Amino acid sequence: MKISHIEHLGIAVKSLEEAIPYYEEILGLKCYNVEEIADQKVKTAFFKVGQTKIELLEPTCPESTIAGFIEKRGEGIHHIAYAVEDVAECLAEAEAKEVRLIDKAPRKGAEGLNIAFLHPKSTKGVLTELCCPGCKCEEE
Ligand code: ZN
Repeated sequence: MKISHIEHLGIAVKSLEEAIPYYEEILGLKCYNVEEIADQKVKTAFFKVGQTKIELLEPTCPESTIAGFIEKRGEGIHHIAYAVEDVAECLAEAEAKEVRLIDKAPRKGAEGLNIAFLHPKSTKGVLTELCCPGCKCEEE
């Protein structure tokens, strides 16, 4: 795989409203986008740190995987997202190397990026997202 940088860190929070002031007032970052991703049952808030972003994830209902994560492990780092050129190609490579995939094919994530997740059972406990930032990936 050719990873260019860490695209973002996903952090699970109970409430964006409570978490955003920490990032803005203490860390001095600026929230530049808040977006609800209905099919993932989350609301996201984004901050830029160099070319890497912080993605806060608030569950929008108890069935959200983020709600389950917070219940089990508390608030905190949920996943790491690496920027790659071609998500589909990386998935094929990972699968060939017997990495367990959560997504068999890329799908649309926050900010319209093509994304896919690798299973933490195959990644030393870190939920791993591959995403394609400057991506001209074909819209279907
Ligand atoms: Zn993410």
